[in-house]
Amino acid sequence: MPLTYTGQYYPSLPENHRFPIAKYALVREQLLYEGLVQPEQLLDPGLCPEEHIVRIHTYQYWEQAKALSLPPKAVRELGLPLVTETVLRAQNSVHCTLISSRHALQSGIGIHLGGGTHHAFAGRPEGFCLLNDLAVAAAWLQQQEAGMRVLILDLDVHQGNGTASIFREEPGVFTFSMHCKNNYPLRKEQSDRDVELPVGMADAAYLQLLEQQMLDVVQQFRPHIVLYQAGVDVLAGDRLGRLSLSKEGCRQRDRLVLRYCRDNRLPVVVTLGGGYHSSLSELIDAHCNTVRTAFQLYE
Ligand SMILES: [Zn+2]
Repeated sequence: MPLTYTGQYYPSLPENHRFPIAKYALVREQLLYEGLVQPEQLLDPGLCPEEHIVRIHTYQYWEQAKALSLPPKAVRELGLPLVTETVLRAQNSVHCTLISSRHALQSGIGIHLGGGTHHAFAGRPEGFCLLNDLAVAAAWLQQQEAGMRVLILDLDVHQGNGTASIFREEPGVFTFSMHCKNNYPLRKEQSDRDVELPVGMADAAYLQLLEQQMLDVVQQFRPHIVLYQAGVDVLAGDRLGRLSLSKEGCRQRDRLVLRYCRDNRLPVVVTLGGGYHSSLSELIDAHCNTVRTAFQLYE
């Protein structure tokens, strides 16, 4: 099972920056250390060809981003320094999700040790997201076969507002977002299905609701492939979350989604999504659980 990751580009962030950029390398290191993943399984596909990016993002936006000349307001909303490494990292990460989508079509599952940058809109960045990898991959998938129906299953604690906005008029892509109601983004977009959760919701109620909603959406939309945003900022103790899932509950969430996809022969692409736990080791362990669960089910 090949995994993709963005290995080359790391913008340096101020010491106490809210975005834990170190997590990606640490997740990778942990999986290698455990022997779950072998070095030769890890694939860095490099920068995404721009033709795929501008199918989703406006030409003007992408040109401005590359020239590091986005308006100051846009840079503030990005929340990351607009430097060359940030742009290249996004372009690399988008390619990872796209290549993992190809893996999913070939073998049933594709895993990107990163991605899920669901706050990026067609023409502006937001919330640590410059480019929307889920959207670019969905558009690429639709090109592979006429009539391809793509379900974006977004379980990050924050609404997938960029993705919802990008595909508002696109019947071939169904945007599903299950997120905390009283949380960022303040002004939400309309997904094809939004499931808003109360602050503090815990494992049992969450898992029951997810199962019900997921089955309903799959029966209604009948997707050919699922792009899964497996954000672990649903955990209790997450600095930007507000839900109260336990690590075990989060693992069961991943298991519910991935087992359903496996049992129904529904190709699935896993992206890590958000995670800002106050404990870095808990954060890494929760992200690793997503990958461990995938390996348990698919190997
Ligand atoms: Zn999030």
